[in-house]
Amino acid sequence: MAIAYLSLGANLGDRKAMLEAALRGLEGSGQVRVVKASSVYETEPIGYVGQPWFYNLAAEIETDLDPDALLTLTKQVERELNRTREIHWGPRTIDIDILLYDDLVTNGNRLTLPHPEMVGRRFVLEPLVEIAPDLKLPDGRRIADLLPSVSAQEVRKVAG
Ligand code: ATP
Ligand code: CA
Ligand code: CA
Repeated sequence: MAIAYLSLGANLGDRKAMLEAALRGLEGSGQVRVVKASSVYETEPIGYVGQPWFYNLAAEIETDLDPDALLTLTKQVERELNRTREIHWGPRTIDIDILLYDDLVTNGNRLTLPHPEMVGRRFVLEPLVEIAPDLKLPDGRRIADLLPSVSAQEVRKVAG
């Protein structure tokens, strides 16, 4: 059984419902158990501005799937939730990224672990620190220690 951490984001439609549907979709496979899910955060878009704000959360999961099969499942759930991919970093109903998978380090053409952008993204790190305050990267750096040096971005917990 492996432990993995996911980052989910949505900025089209009912954003909170999309995040919940994605977690249900992953569990519906019967091969993923969501151990912890963070609060939902509303976050300012970066990269491609002029799009709606995102809702983001982080989740800790347990799975028997290998990393490649887990990626295939996340893509399938994205498809089921009608994700379209038009503008890179642009608006989407749902995005599911695999941040960490145990202590695995890999750089294949389908999958890079840890997720290469996670260390620079406040919208990823803040929810992750909420559910896993002592979590470390495979190289030993504490996730929580990365936050102070990450550039400013509005990230606020959604009430309820
Ligand atoms: P970013 O990767 O910067 O967050 P994005 O999520 O918008 O951008 P996508 O279009 O969703 O990018 O993904 C592009 C490809 O990235 C996917 O098809 C997938 O094969 C690949 N990929 C590589 N590593 C990972 C990972 N750790 N988690 C999810 N996808 C990954
Ligand atoms: Ca992403
Ligand atoms: Ca993605």
